[in-house]
Amino acid sequence: MKTGEIERITGSVITATGLTDVYMGEVMNVGSEGLVGEVIRVSEENFTMQVYEPTTGLKPGEQVIATGRRLVAELGPGLLMNVLDGIERPLDAILKQQGPFLTRGIKINTLPRSKKWRFNPIAKTGDVVEGGDILGEVRETRMIVHKILVPPDISGKLVEISAGVFAVDDPIAVIEKDKEKKELKMMQEWPVRAPRPFKNRLALDKQLITGQRVIDALFPIAKGGTASIPGGFGTGKTVTLQQLVKWSDADVTIYVGCGERGNEICEVITSFPKLKDSTTGLPLMERTIIIANTSNMPVSAREASVYMGITIGEYYRDMGYHVALVADSTSRWAEALREISSRLGEMPSEKGYPAYLAGRVGEFYERAGRVETLGEPRREGSITVIGAVSPPGGDFNEPVTISTARFTGVFWALDTELAYSRHFPAINWMQSYSLYAGQLAGNWAQSFLALKAQEKKPEMFWEERFPAFEQLRNAVLELLTKSAEAEAIARVIGETTLPDDQRLILLTGQLIKEGFLKQNAYDEVDSFCDPFRQVALLSMILRFYVKAQVLIKNQVPVERLVDLPILSKMKRIKEDRGLQVAILQLIQEVDVVLEEIAQKYQVKF
Ligand code: ADP
Repeated sequence: MKTGEIERITGSVITATGLTDVYMGEVMNVGSEGLVGEVIRVSEENFTMQVYEPTTGLKPGEQVIATGRRLVAELGPGLLMNVLDGIERPLDAILKQQGPFLTRGIKINTLPRSKKWRFNPIAKTGDVVEGGDILGEVRETRMIVHKILVPPDISGKLVEISAGVFAVDDPIAVIEKDKEKKELKMMQEWPVRAPRPFKNRLALDKQLITGQRVIDALFPIAKGGTASIPGGFGTGKTVTLQQLVKWSDADVTIYVGCGERGNEICEVITSFPKLKDSTTGLPLMERTIIIANTSNMPVSAREASVYMGITIGEYYRDMGYHVALVADSTSRWAEALREISSRLGEMPSEKGYPAYLAGRVGEFYERAGRVETLGEPRREGSITVIGAVSPPGGDFNEPVTISTARFTGVFWALDTELAYSRHFPAINWMQSYSLYAGQLAGNWAQSFLALKAQEKKPEMFWEERFPAFEQLRNAVLELLTKSAEAEAIARVIGETTLPDDQRLILLTGQLIKEGFLKQNAYDEVDSFCDPFRQVALLSMILRFYVKAQVLIKNQVPVERLVDLPILSKMKRIKEDRGLQVAILQLIQEVDVVLEEIAQKYQVKF
């Protein structure tokens, strides 16, 4: 056993000597308790590690043992439904073993070796297999069938494969290559800092349906895309991310709670197990993994937790699943980088962050994507990455927000003023953008049809009656922009002095905000709004606008419209349980009301 000796301790950064062939990224066991550390700097005289557990009480001279391994993720059946810490230890198992207070140096397997799974082989003896091929299946939860894959770097002829009930580390198959035999197990390992390989990247033209109107309709995200969600304290980052985990049509979701306060993570850990999946009604945890890392845990573990999360995500992607990973908050990870960097004495760059901040952020988001996976049968999978950013004071001109925006395709800018006025989600429609909107537009109909097939929806009215989605989206964005301009003028000269066509724009802008953009996460019906309802709601509002415009052009005073009682009905219809039918009725009602006015003023539509 190769042992070295601690030389210097600065918080979670420890320098040691006495070992020669140490390499970057090697995992070390530090001190008598064997704390987990990872080498982040090597020189001729010594090497430096970041340690993933509290270092209090450690002294120079204590031993450091080289493991000869990199930081790896354990991958296999049993990951779902778990709450893991930054280095993939299941908190539940720790609780059972150690009680409620985390002690240090706990060695515990991510995947329990005692649990048995039924393995159903798909590959057959004699098959020549390579990395990514599916050996067989395990029903991991009622929602997810876990595909057992040949690890990426292995290939050969299958000389044995067994059906039956096994633990994750039992051999289930034997592979032979160049006369050498190798046992395969259900579990495999992968170094967290290296992206798992795939065959090809695919276009980002399939929408991740989230059921959040402002997102799906105005700033959509593609399956395999990336999004940043910056916002000051209390603007709704956590609630929005939780909504995405609950409602998005990803097969598997991973929630990385990174350096947030303990009570927030506690809220996630206690509330998630009670939630039900929207389509199946089964517990949401059956397709979810939580990685929890609170602000009082060592900062270096935050780094590990985002890499751990994305590695697990890639593994499920490789099975052919659509994975969504949300990280709350990537700013805490960046702060960890800053802290470690300053302890290393590196030259700081802007706001004290290390010069490699943007590089690290880029590398992380680069691991998102929709891909054709390795192996047979041919399949595609995706991993969508959504990171919250918490800029101090809500100022988006700070290094973490800027470097994140550089690498993400969607920017959902949370606005303190909107949050103040209780307009939630507080996504500012003037500042936000989606680079995927163009590519996704053509596929809206497809996404709809897929959903319809899945849910066996009856023929919907929107197809014949309503305009193409792209037109709706553009019209709404244009109206919102015009409405913002009119608002700015109204603030100076007063609303009633605006010309009537401008007041109609204001009125419609208000309808869009109240009746469409605002969405209450805590309302049983409104929490999720499927694309059919979204199109129906938008169509209703725009139809009103187009007709009202004709009235105004024909000298009908805008006062005839602003106090119409039907307007408040239009704003509330989103919360109606039977929306699909109710909205058709409401559209007819609106038509009747406008027709009455038209007749009075002898206007023809
Ligand atoms: P942050 O994580 O940005 O600090 P939170 O996500 O904790 O903010 O949100 C703060 C509060 O805002 C929540 O407790 C909730 O009351 C309100 N809120 C945020 N988003 C919504 C939403 N979509 N619907 C209703 N309330 C919301």
